Amino acid sequence: DARERGHAGYQFFTPAIQNRIQRAIAIEQKLRQGIEQNEFELHYQPVVDTRSRRIVGAEALIRWPQANGEVMQPDEFIQVAEANGVINQLGAWVIQEACRQVRQWRMQGMPPLRIAVNVSPIQFRSRNFYQCVADALAASGIDPNCLELEVTESAVMKQVDEASQTLSSLKNLGLQISLDDFGTGYSSLSRLARLPFDKLKVDQSFIRNIDTDSRSLAIAETVIALGKRLGVKVVAEGIETEAAFNLLRKCDCDLGQGYLLSKPMPAEQFRQWHQEHMLAVS
Ligand code: C2E
Ligand code: MG
Ligand code: MG
Ligand code: MG
Repeated sequence: DARERGHAGYQFFTPAIQNRIQRAIAIEQKLRQGIEQNEFELHYQPVVDTRSRRIVGAEALIRWPQANGEVMQPDEFIQVAEANGVINQLGAWVIQEACRQVRQWRMQGMPPLRIAVNVSPIQFRSRNFYQCVADALAASGIDPNCLELEVTESAVMKQVDEASQTLSSLKNLGLQISLDDFGTGYSSLSRLARLPFDKLKVDQSFIRNIDTDSRSLAIAETVIALGKRLGVKVVAEGIETEAAFNLLRKCDCDLGQGYLLSKPMPAEQFRQWHQEHMLAVS
């Protein structure tokens, strides 16, 4: 009971919140070491053309294997990394590693694939972000067109002129920009028109129920149509069923990813999956 624990007869935090705080502190302490000791991995989730089912690329998603054999998921540590500033270092590693992997796959004879990397809003707004990307491209020597940066509304909608300039200079490097989790953040349609991006990713919360809920379908259809009218490609994330996949094709959605096709996989497994998948659809 709270009276026994707190001197003043009350508690500041419930045990559940206390637990979360303690976990965050523990993660914060391990993060720096994790980066120095190269403990992180990227997994790759295929992105396919909805009409042909051909694979056009993948999204790189960070994973943190733990000593006890468990794998920590980004939802648990990205926020902590953002709060203590380590995200810039971690985010730089993600971009370098994705570029390195693109080059390795090319050297292994795979056809060119476009790999999308998630960018934290804090990382996007940091002073050296442009240079970080330019350096990673130069160091790896890959075709910049094989790299895509996923930014969220919260990264680009606030200081829209500044964000727009950053995006333009990044695009001048030859890479692609996509707007991730579209519809879930702080969006403004008037600002959307001023931002240079190549792709719109419809958040999985809109896709999840399109085969059972007419309102979800209405929203998904409208967002897809909006993307088309803006002249950008539209990607649906979180496709879990054939029914959803078919509906998206009918709505003329260009690209899709989701557990129906594959969960994110380690790099080598992705390469094998890619080989088998290419045979299956050709
Ligand atoms: P996101 O960028 O929207 O990535 C999509 C998330 O949905 C991934 O979760 C993916 O595994 C999951 N997903 C894909 N298909 C399905 C599906 O059919 N059903 C369901 N239920 N889920 C699906 P993940 O890997 O746990 O990543 C969560 C979020 O963490 C990402 O959302 C992204 O915002 C962030 N994140 C991941 N990797 C990075 C990174 O390298 N840097 C930064 N800054 N953020 C990252
Ligand atoms: Mg993403
Ligand atoms: Mg997303
Ligand atoms: Mg998300």
